[in-house]
Amino acid sequence: MRRYDASQIEPKWQRVWEEEGLYRASDDPADERPRFYALDMFPYPSGDLHMGHAEAFSGGDTVARFRALQGYNVMHPVGWDSFGLNAENAAIKRQIHPKEWTYANIDQQAASFKRMGMSFDWSRMVRTSDPEYYRWTQWLFLRFFERGLAYRKKAPVNWCPKDQTVLANEQVIQGACERCGTLVERRDLTQWFFKITDYAQRLLDDIDTLVEWPERVLTMQRNWIGRSEGAHVTFTIDETGDEVRIFTTRPDTLWGVTFFVFAVEHPLVQKLAELGGSWETVQPLIEEVRATPLTYREQADTKEGVALGVHAVNPVNGEKVPCFVAPYVLMEYGTGAIMAVPGHDERDFAFARSHDVPVRVVIQPDGVETLDGDTMSEAYPGEGSMVSSGPFEGERTPGSIAKVAAWLADEGRGEAAVTFRLRDWLLSRQRYWGAPIPIVHCDRCGEVAVPETELPVLLPDDVDFQPGGESPLARHPSWSQVACPKCGGDARRDTDTMDTFVDSSWYLFRYCSPGYDGGPFRREDVDRWMPVSQYTGGVEHAILHLLYTRFFTKVLHDIGLVGFTEPFPRLMNQGQVIYGGASMSKTKGNIVEPMPLVERWGADTVRLIMLFAGPFEDDIDWKLIAGDPDKRPGVTAWLGRAFAAVDEAVARGADVAEPESLRRLTHRTIKGVTEDLERYRFNTAISKLQVLTNEMRSALDAGGGAMGAAGVLPQLLAPFAPFAAEELWREVLGNRSSVHVSSWPSFDEALAAEDTVTLVVQVDGKVRDKVEVPSDASEEACLELARASESARRTIAERGIAKEIVRAPKLVNFVTKR
Ligand SMILES: [Zn+2]
Ligand SMILES: [Zn+2]
Repeated sequence: MRRYDASQIEPKWQRVWEEEGLYRASDDPADERPRFYALDMFPYPSGDLHMGHAEAFSGGDTVARFRALQGYNVMHPVGWDSFGLNAENAAIKRQIHPKEWTYANIDQQAASFKRMGMSFDWSRMVRTSDPEYYRWTQWLFLRFFERGLAYRKKAPVNWCPKDQTVLANEQVIQGACERCGTLVERRDLTQWFFKITDYAQRLLDDIDTLVEWPERVLTMQRNWIGRSEGAHVTFTIDETGDEVRIFTTRPDTLWGVTFFVFAVEHPLVQKLAELGGSWETVQPLIEEVRATPLTYREQADTKEGVALGVHAVNPVNGEKVPCFVAPYVLMEYGTGAIMAVPGHDERDFAFARSHDVPVRVVIQPDGVETLDGDTMSEAYPGEGSMVSSGPFEGERTPGSIAKVAAWLADEGRGEAAVTFRLRDWLLSRQRYWGAPIPIVHCDRCGEVAVPETELPVLLPDDVDFQPGGESPLARHPSWSQVACPKCGGDARRDTDTMDTFVDSSWYLFRYCSPGYDGGPFRREDVDRWMPVSQYTGGVEHAILHLLYTRFFTKVLHDIGLVGFTEPFPRLMNQGQVIYGGASMSKTKGNIVEPMPLVERWGADTVRLIMLFAGPFEDDIDWKLIAGDPDKRPGVTAWLGRAFAAVDEAVARGADVAEPESLRRLTHRTIKGVTEDLERYRFNTAISKLQVLTNEMRSALDAGGGAMGAAGVLPQLLAPFAPFAAEELWREVLGNRSSVHVSSWPSFDEALAAEDTVTLVVQVDGKVRDKVEVPSDASEEACLELARASESARRTIAERGIAKEIVRAPKLVNFVTKR
């Protein structure tokens, strides 16, 4: 009898597949198959593949293989996001060149991907640190530059003292560097930005078209863009006549303004403080705030602040209210000054109570006893009717907001306005391992684009890349000295490099035109393959990468380079692989590596463990699913049973009659697995295949045949366990060509129909799940399905099972160890 032995099977087929060029997407225009672009988020080459890669790529590969079997012309490319801080820091630590470190890791990851049986089209491979690639990153930067979408400005920026570089706001998590966890500082530097804010409304509007994205990702994108409707209102400083514009989402509360607050960086602050006699107390506050990381200030103490000694005139009623300067008002958001309405805003209320400023109620909620500004203990930010509000007495929210805004415009005191939380994308980095910014600075001509014919601006190898505050490229003795492309005079190259998120914002387009040297990609190639049919990757990219790529796509569309505005209408996020409830990390010493497991048990086993562990989007806790490291994994044992069953069925031949029940189950399994794969329910599909295997065994043990089932099991198995499926298909069933270029089996609806009953799944006698099962389901079948129940599994968690009680087909009860 044929034994299942991954170490014999897998290297063999890996070689054959490579020789046969099995996974090449066809660019032949005469190829009439529908196209399917299966895209996985490309990895950073930091070390070998980790568990997160194994999980994500197992899912993405299953989708690609399934679609190919269904008859699609599938493009499933791979590449590396190979510039960036990760590689640079790792190289510095090991005292080798980032290039050497990066490319060695790419080689290792590539070998591991092949070992895992990923169906990549290697002819399309992209590495963002290759000059052939970043030439076009630079070219695209220049397209942005010429349209005014890339510009420089001096701005307060987040500075990571450890990485010695600026970080985008998006790269600062709770005040700390996303990469290294160091508390971020604030510096004022001249930096390059992409004007993503010009696209804020379109980025927001088009979210509505992304109906096949996870809802939580859409919510995160909406919140990040952060659109607010309201009004701009102009206040006047009584003592100087300066006009100060503010933005408010609640113009209906204008009559409740009792003070006015400036951000510390507001350009009027010093002048007003000197005039008001408060500079001595204001100056230390400014210094203190300037030393605080930008992102920390979003949680600033709302009680802190100093009176400026001047007054602002409220344009709706002419009242003069005191002006303050306070850290809770941010220069980066809105206009750097606010009207304060303590009766109806929590932060203003906290400030007012600690600075003895009156609180005035101008919105009265329905059905509540009248609020009193002197005695209320918290602000009322909700809806209601306007009171003490001049001409608007009795007007109700939300209609009142638009009415007041319209009135402000008529009176010339303001106008309706929209603001966004989204800031421009800070893209320059003072680091070495990135694409140089293709700009020359000339004292006479200013910022001059490097001519297209001189791209790429090559990153020199001989650079002292130790971080040191200024860009490493600036320390190179000659690299930055260049003749101005416009006037020919002495000029300097820009010595910053681009954020790696720029590189990863267009790699998906490059896959469509590998090796093309007439542009970043050919329009006809992109039109043929894109938008992406299915994008798979981690939810950690829910905001930045996805938003930036959406932005790039819209700009490419506006330039006329592509014909669509959204790059990936369908997105699937895998869960994280964690250990004992916590993320895997070196410091916790709980890292499990996939490749040693592949060597020990085989790639098919690792893929199946990942896909069978639960719904793809849920986290996998390795501690719960791994079991005894020396015991053969359950999925490996199942592959062994599948091998034995197919082998025996073939030996017995097609002449021995197959039981009707197995024939029916085979059709039901084809139907069920097809439906599950359409919805990326990998775990339930695998459990159906296990049930089929068990029924084949029963039929064979009873002296019957099982050839019908044996003929399709390898095909149904192929997306999940490509090596084992191939071995069964070619070696056991004797097919000439690969199972992966065969046609997905079809099923007979009538045979697939079934009488079902409800199987109740209990844990310790309590109902945890109900599953529809065939009325003739065996004990084993019921048990398999019950074991696959997510809610039962969650309840059992770490307790372990002491006993399984089965009353087929109606009940399975798991008794836990406790
Ligand atoms: Zn850092
Ligand atoms: Zn010049």
